[in-house]
Amino acid sequence: MENVRTTARSSGVGGNGGLRNRCRTVGLAVASVLTATAAGFVVSPGLANAAVTGTVKAKTQRMTAASLKSQQDGWYNVGDKLNLVCSTHGQAVKGYFSFNIPNGGWDSLWYKVSDGRYVADVDIETGTLSAVAPDCPPAQQSPPQAASPAPPSQATLRWPLDSVRINQGFGVGGHPGIDLKADLNTPVFAAADGTVDFEGFGQNSSWMLQEAGICILIKHASIYTGYAHLTRTIINKGQKISKGQLIGYSGNTGYVTGPHLHFEVLPLSPNFHNGFNGRIDPAPYLR
Ligand SMILES: [Zn+2]
Repeated sequence: MENVRTTARSSGVGGNGGLRNRCRTVGLAVASVLTATAAGFVVSPGLANAAVTGTVKAKTQRMTAASLKSQQDGWYNVGDKLNLVCSTHGQAVKGYFSFNIPNGGWDSLWYKVSDGRYVADVDIETGTLSAVAPDCPPAQQSPPQAASPAPPSQATLRWPLDSVRINQGFGVGGHPGIDLKADLNTPVFAAADGTVDFEGFGQNSSWMLQEAGICILIKHASIYTGYAHLTRTIINKGQKISKGQLIGYSGNTGYVTGPHLHFEVLPLSPNFHNGFNGRIDPAPYLR
């Protein structure tokens, strides 16, 4: 994924050619969503949907949510005309429009496209720096998953370390797993019987991502378990694993501030919109 991009919407560089260029068609789309009624002017979302388009200026990710950390579903290509349904604030990214701006800034404005996917505003031309589509309705909160299916007996997990000290629990600040204290090269054990679904650098897995560093994903009978920030793994993809088997060693690879083991649980069909990138609370599954 191109998560190093360049733009500077928030830089306030008014004299910049690139920014001026974006302002050519300011206003028309916005004006067209105002409808006169007896009560005055109201915003008509229906008209807005029809009126607001953006043209892709740089090949950009087609995401399932307003974040590069959501699932990617292909690309939008240069010249694509996108119907923008609504706008929202998501992950701040850098994009196309900062190529003209030294030390470009970041922008968090995203649009939901009529195909149901999301595009970062920084890579499309809408004619203005402001949002041209109405606010997206608040995200539908999926029911808390940890409370839903009772863990099947075969999913009873052991802790992946022999000595368990919790640094950070699940859910705090959107944290999608449990962080366990672990010095470099602490042995890491499989939480249950299963098969290695992925091992290696997280950026090579659409589920584990770059921030996981060197990581392992094991498929069990009814869930997956993930182990992140490892120094190394000692197992291979497709290998059958027994509960308690040594699978690797903890470390500080990926996005970390220090060595620890990040342990996480996913259902077999994760809901990647659950606010935790599909992860669920491991606590009910641990013995
Ligand atoms: Zn973590």
